[in-house]
Amino acid sequence: MEKLEMLYEGKAKKVYKTDDPNYYWIEYKDDATAFNGEKKGTIVDKGIVNNKMSALLFKMLEEKGVPTHFESLVNDREQIVKAVKILPLEVIVRNVAAGSLAKRLGLEEGTPMKKTVLEFCYKNDELGDPMVNDDHIFAMDFATELQLETIKHYAYKVNELLKAFFIKRGLKLIDFKLEFGVYEGKVILADEISPDTCRLWDAETNKKMDKDRFRRDLGDVEAVYQEVLGRIQG
Ligand code: UDP
Repeated sequence: MEKLEMLYEGKAKKVYKTDDPNYYWIEYKDDATAFNGEKKGTIVDKGIVNNKMSALLFKMLEEKGVPTHFESLVNDREQIVKAVKILPLEVIVRNVAAGSLAKRLGLEEGTPMKKTVLEFCYKNDELGDPMVNDDHIFAMDFATELQLETIKHYAYKVNELLKAFFIKRGLKLIDFKLEFGVYEGKVILADEISPDTCRLWDAETNKKMDKDRFRRDLGDVEAVYQEVLGRIQG
């Protein structure tokens, strides 16, 4: 496959066309942002960690029956994915209260919850990704009823698969964000799964092993990204 012109540059990735209209070529960057782009920086080799980790996790999920956009790795920083049309929703899955939920409800981070919580945000940087409910999603046509039902089904399934996967590697999956796209009329998992998009705490010590180290200036950022990749590669 051939890498053609850049279609889009996001905060963490560049998306290129290929000579096959069914596939995109993704390049993962080391650029890091937080608080809706207010905080900017670099996490050295983050692009390599996130590229490899997403590839490994998407492959595992696909094998367990979750359709994903992942096709193949090109090199340390690049991968080929199906050319999906991304639905304008961020799907947040929460197992333990943390981050914006802890803040919103006045809970201490780490507070257990009686059930898994799904949240949806409208993907729009100018608006700061506002939270929306099912009615907003249908009213604004962000997704159809059938698409949302499929998204919820896959989101819970991905959660169960990831929780089991990570705990075997000594990591607790606190929360994470998914994005879905439409390919050949079907909803499939897209974007990435990495320490940028998950909260992962060490199972023994509760050490934060994710982008919160960058967001909150906790130090050790690069080492922790490498540690997570090392653990999941086994
Ligand atoms: N998240 C993400 N991208 C976003 C917002 C959230 O990947 O634009 C992830 C974040 O890393 C965390 C989960 O979704 O694992 C829940 O994030 P939260 O709503 O607590 O927001 P944050 O504290 O990151 O602002």
